Amino acid sequence: MKKISSVLLISALAFNQSCTTMKSTETQKEIPTPDASLSSNPFMKKSKLQYEAPEFDKIKDEHFKPAFDFGLRQHDAEILKIANNPEAPTFENTLVALEKSGEILKRALIVFSNLTSANTNPTLQALDEEYAPIFAAHSDKMYLNENLYKRIKAISENGLDSESKKLLQYYKQNFEIAGANLSAADKEKLKQINQELASLSTQYSNKLLEARKQGGVFFTDAKELDGLSADEIAAAATDAKNAGKEGRYLLALQNTTQQPLLQNLKNRSTREKLFKASWTRAEKGDANDTRETIEKLAKLRLKKAQILGKKSFAEWKLQDQMAKTPEAATKLMNQIATPAVETAKREAKDIQDLINQQNGGFEVEPWDWNFYAEQVRKAKFDLDESEIKPYFEITTVLEKGVFFAAEKFYGLTFKKRTDLPVYHPDVVTYEVFDHDGKSIAIYYLDFYTRDSKNGGAWMSNFVEQSYLLGTKPVIVNCYNYQKPAPGKPSLISFDDVSTIFHEFGHSIHGMFASQKYPSLSGTNVPRDFVEFPSQINEHWALDPVVLKNYAIHYDTKQPIPQILVDKIKKAATFNQGYMTTELVSAAALDMDWHTVTSESELIPVLDFEKQSLAKHGFTLSTVPPRYHTPYFAHIWGGGYSAGYYAYLWSETLDNDAWEWIKSNGGLTRENGDRFRKYILSVGNSVDLNQAFRDFTGHDPDIKPLLRNRGFIK
Ligand SMILES: [Zn+2]
Repeated sequence: MKKISSVLLISALAFNQSCTTMKSTETQKEIPTPDASLSSNPFMKKSKLQYEAPEFDKIKDEHFKPAFDFGLRQHDAEILKIANNPEAPTFENTLVALEKSGEILKRALIVFSNLTSANTNPTLQALDEEYAPIFAAHSDKMYLNENLYKRIKAISENGLDSESKKLLQYYKQNFEIAGANLSAADKEKLKQINQELASLSTQYSNKLLEARKQGGVFFTDAKELDGLSADEIAAAATDAKNAGKEGRYLLALQNTTQQPLLQNLKNRSTREKLFKASWTRAEKGDANDTRETIEKLAKLRLKKAQILGKKSFAEWKLQDQMAKTPEAATKLMNQIATPAVETAKREAKDIQDLINQQNGGFEVEPWDWNFYAEQVRKAKFDLDESEIKPYFEITTVLEKGVFFAAEKFYGLTFKKRTDLPVYHPDVVTYEVFDHDGKSIAIYYLDFYTRDSKNGGAWMSNFVEQSYLLGTKPVIVNCYNYQKPAPGKPSLISFDDVSTIFHEFGHSIHGMFASQKYPSLSGTNVPRDFVEFPSQINEHWALDPVVLKNYAIHYDTKQPIPQILVDKIKKAATFNQGYMTTELVSAAALDMDWHTVTSESELIPVLDFEKQSLAKHGFTLSTVPPRYHTPYFAHIWGGGYSAGYYAYLWSETLDNDAWEWIKSNGGLTRENGDRFRKYILSVGNSVDLNQAFRDFTGHDPDIKPLLRNRGFIK
């Protein structure tokens, strides 16, 4: 089972978008230094904590604005100085100087981006809306600076080491993608568009967060929640109370179309209410309706692509990805879509048969799917979630599962830290040690869901590794698990277990970063590569040695019985038709939104989605896309526009590489070192298609993916 989650791409936020050009009258300024009014601002100096971990005990909301304002001024001055340097352009005085610039701004922004995702509040949200267009303009100031582009073009590759060569190519390509070759008039237009896009994206995210919060469903009678555990019902009562409706029950929304609770809710009308609340959350015609914002975003993105000389936004966006063109990405999706839909049809029949056997007297609807699929699963595989969950206590899964696998494969060890300040009392921290005992990283985990947190799960850096800057990785993983009632264990599903392994896969990609330049470090790789390490790491959840070590009953302390393990494994291809179809249809929808070549194709949001799904043969109404356009945050609020296919691309790499690992001995230190050497430690400093070939000995092959999903033998 594949987890869908994202890596928060922070550097992209500020520095890879594209624009405010410099007025020709602007001259070189002195680099400003912080004055006395900023002396207590924690962003002005490097943190004194280990590896420059953020000083959350000192950071207050009011520190961001002055840090941004000063950081922007300082970075502007630094860029101007580099661009207008009277000396001949060299790698050192141009690219190395750029890599070192913007220190204060980056420091403040990386913490800010993490907090607006994981623990936001109205002050931070307002700041986000205010500064999104300013940061976009700031990024453009650099990428549309003609002098700077000329200098970069003048730098010779001769005598550069391979990582430095890659950095030169990276900057050249980024400048071109951002529009450095455009006329002055077009640059002005582009700058305007970029600022508008940034504002719209932020508005979209804020609307959606509120829509999710407001979209939860209240119930008056606990009977309506029949099928949920006593703990889940108690949590629903607490949530209602916190929302000011004591005595009622609140089922909050998760960010995906399907809601995990639908699997257990016996009352069909409750299921329907919850599903419809999810589906319609952001299309109610109120202040949180996202459709108008989406239409504006889609139009502006097309306009931007056209100014940049491309037919569509996707064509522009995919230039520096592994897929390179929308056609290559679409080809992959089509190869997966047909067998996925065929499989989903068979699964739908199994479900309908079961409904009929029980004299249900209705046709299966999307809100029934998981409820009956769970029963089919029990019948076919005799597997019951509630039987499994007691073996998956969250901290045991982490320490004796995820960390254990990392020790066996890579030789890593972990030590819990309680001395580091955190941004929320639920956050826990660890220090990470390499196979030779050397400390290499700090790792934060934030497990539980809150209204102040975006949905889903993700990995992000607080500090990026760089030999040039002398920094080591400081990394965080965020999740949205239900916090257990006080004194109760946090028991999670196997799906959630896989998510923890997945996110750790991103983290280890960050921890093993071994680059000189921060722009090429760790997870700063193309989006269709970034999910590869995380998906590989998911496989360890079912490795027999690992599983035996972590799947321990929270109460009896007995290891999970082999018979349950066999069932989990057998059930691994269960419901894959549904799960793959909902994923591919979302990916196809994203690509359709971003391959339009004229404004006339951009019809109203809901009509557009309907047409797109029909065009690709996603006609099963019982299998809706994983995200419906109005709440498809990855593509409208995050960095995955024309990029959602990346999960499937990465998964192709993952399944293929996993076959190599399995056929070469599996969980061995030798294999771990090899994976680290070719894949995890190279960041974006090499040709990643070549890195894959170096690891497996061949080009990526889609067959292992189709086999693992049970679509072919
Ligand atoms: Zn991921």
